[in-house]
Amino acid sequence: MLSIRSACFAPIFRAPAFPLAALLLGTASLLTSCQGSVAVSPGTGENTDPTTVGSSASPTQEYLVGATLFVQTAAEYRALCYQAYSLAEQRLVEHLHAWEADHGARSGRPTGAGKAGPAIITDLDETVLDNSAYTAWQIENEKPYTPETWAEWTALAEAPLVPGAADFLHLADSLGVQIFYVSNRKQNERPATISNMAELGLPQLDTTHFFLKTTTSDKTERREKIEALGYDVLLYLGDNLGDFDARWDKQPVAVRAERADAARADFGRRFIVFPNPLYGSWEGALYGYDWGLSMAERNAARREALQPASLP
Ligand SMILES: [Mg+2]
Repeated sequence: MLSIRSACFAPIFRAPAFPLAALLLGTASLLTSCQGSVAVSPGTGENTDPTTVGSSASPTQEYLVGATLFVQTAAEYRALCYQAYSLAEQRLVEHLHAWEADHGARSGRPTGAGKAGPAIITDLDETVLDNSAYTAWQIENEKPYTPETWAEWTALAEAPLVPGAADFLHLADSLGVQIFYVSNRKQNERPATISNMAELGLPQLDTTHFFLKTTTSDKTERREKIEALGYDVLLYLGDNLGDFDARWDKQPVAVRAERADAARADFGRRFIVFPNPLYGSWEGALYGYDWGLSMAERNAARREALQPASLP
């Protein structure tokens, strides 16, 4: 639900005018020009064309180098995460005071029928857990993302923390706020995920606090389930706008941008957003969410979406 305040802001819309049409045209021409030369595995969408996979002349994962280095080496990445968690702490305390005033209750105490108390909903990957090592592995080994190798990575239970995550989650825990981990990791990744998080000393790791993916990546149903249990969700944390609301899911680049502009009053208030240059719906939008595209087609779609200066 958009607030009146957010609706009053004029959208600052700088998304390119061309992207969807251009992408479709570009993709269509690519599909035409590449017919018979790009092999796509129908099951995984994995490019099996020997001329574009594993070739040092045209490395398919090279585009991830800058993003991965930003996460792994830039002090600015760490500072952005600390900034987000610092704001999250401030907002949580504010919202909790307001909640207590509304309910006449002390922190975290259930307030009667139908009310299970205050809660937060947080995503896991690139919000609490840092998976940039998996992306670095992709680059080093010239491997695209696949659910199989991702599962091998999560099974290692070695993901480090996103900077600031532990302190924030411990603060929420100490304030009596329930923490719900709503993640698109799969159910069979639950034991390793909990083990990883236990090793990192994170709170509230019993299975009732985990809402992992069952059939859909859309988190709406899981968010509603938590609310239906009687929790008042004070704050949402995530790196993907779908962590906050489905209005951004499966939408083209321009629509996602428009809707972010329209919801600007929520960011930094109810919604705390973390930087993730590695992957996300922002990337899927560039491909029209067609993960069956070959690596060459994805590369072309990325190039097509650039907005260059009009220099000679
Ligand atoms: Mg995430």
